[in-house]
Amino acid sequence: MPRKKSTTKKQPQKKVQAKKATTKKKVVKKVDLKNVDPKKEKKKTKGPVYTTLRGMKDILPKEGVMWQHLYHTAEDIAGAYGFSYIETPILEQASLFVRSIGKGTDVVDKEMYIFEDKDGSKVCLRPEVTASIARSYINHGMHTFPQPVKVWYWGQMFRHDRPQAGRYRQFHQFGCETFGIQSPVVDAELIAVAYNMLRDLGIETTVKINSIGTPEDRENYIVELVGYLRSKRSYLSDESKKRINKNPLRVLDSKHEQDKAVMEEAPQILDWLSDKSRGFFMSVLEYLDEAGVPYVLTPTLVRGLDYYTDTVFELYTEDDEGSQSALGGGGRYNGLVGQLGGEETPGSGFSLGIERVANILKKQKEELEKQEDYKPEKPGGIFFAQLGEQACKRSLHLIEELRRSGLRVYHNLAKSSLKAQLETADKLGVSNTLILGQKEVQDGTILIRNMESGIQEVVDQKKIVNTVQKLLAK
Ligand code: AMP
Repeated sequence: MPRKKSTTKKQPQKKVQAKKATTKKKVVKKVDLKNVDPKKEKKKTKGPVYTTLRGMKDILPKEGVMWQHLYHTAEDIAGAYGFSYIETPILEQASLFVRSIGKGTDVVDKEMYIFEDKDGSKVCLRPEVTASIARSYINHGMHTFPQPVKVWYWGQMFRHDRPQAGRYRQFHQFGCETFGIQSPVVDAELIAVAYNMLRDLGIETTVKINSIGTPEDRENYIVELVGYLRSKRSYLSDESKKRINKNPLRVLDSKHEQDKAVMEEAPQILDWLSDKSRGFFMSVLEYLDEAGVPYVLTPTLVRGLDYYTDTVFELYTEDDEGSQSALGGGGRYNGLVGQLGGEETPGSGFSLGIERVANILKKQKEELEKQEDYKPEKPGGIFFAQLGEQACKRSLHLIEELRRSGLRVYHNLAKSSLKAQLETADKLGVSNTLILGQKEVQDGTILIRNMESGIQEVVDQKKIVNTVQKLLAK
């Protein structure tokens, strides 16, 4: 009996202990998760361990041809209009942009990739490049160069914006800047370069244009505008309400429908321009007429940045749903160089967003490929296939000889099967393939195979360059 008694007493105790142990185990598990070992995490995660950061993307080899085409189109048109290439660092002192773009703008207040460098100074990844080029103009005494100084650039910009279609955190811009001349023809030329580059690429755009006058014109206008906005405050979006005091000009191009309705009755900046600014603007429009660049006067267009004066413009395109997206923009910035500590120097420029342009070209290509009679363009080159170790060694010499003569030679020397190499040539879409086997190495010949008919011809290796050049010229 005493044994029995003790057993019955102990049993519930055991249960309690068991419960405690389970609870303890769970807690330990949770703590463990906090300090996840990257190796264990790798096993648990289904997808890849590393991906690009939000709003950033890789440009893949299959997109490479288009990106290179875009770059060369930009290079060609900028060169044709007499712009020289300039490149400035991606990392700059943060205050360069705060001072030029201005507080109260989205770019400065919300979107800058700003951080402390190892020496404690504030640096940032450039959100745009005009200020960097103005800095470079001052640093290198470009005011002593023959004026105007005309430069073009291509590179990555960084804005910590909310990613969405056509809006990334790292993106490319191509642009042109002209320093040192206060003339309406400069503005018209810049607009023509941007417009014609897009037209060359097969993209029709609408140029929206306005003048925001001199800083004095703007100050007078802002007083009038703020009065109007205050009188309509209750009809405005919350965002625009906040902007009345902070950056009232931005209310003009607000995307909110309720703001758009209020803006229809708003005072227009064109009515507040001084005679000089109005005359300047009229001349820009006349030059655009001469250059055959169509435009739409847009009184609500003010652009987001502080440094603009007089002419401002944006280039828009419409997608299938009829909604508009800005491919680029720019304007005159007479105060910028002075604002950054240089001599007062007039300037004007534009930038185009390359990702948005690339997206349009990609869509156009997809549409083209859907057409029944679509035939992909043949690449302008030849494939080189080789069989056996001797042939592989010899092919390096022959490929180089062809390349030096300006010919494009596709090859895959790591592959030994002829079938696999011919399949690659087929996929590439080349019209002809050179085939070098053991026998050809020994007798100094090479085969040329017509990929469509399959007919092969024997050619003397010494005549290979000439023969291929003739074939590709057909
Ligand atoms: P902005 O410097 O803001 O005048 O921009 C000029 C052009 O750059 C715009 O019209 C867009 O095409 C492009 N762009 C600006 N911000 C972005 C972004 N976050 N992502 C992709 N493209 C952009």
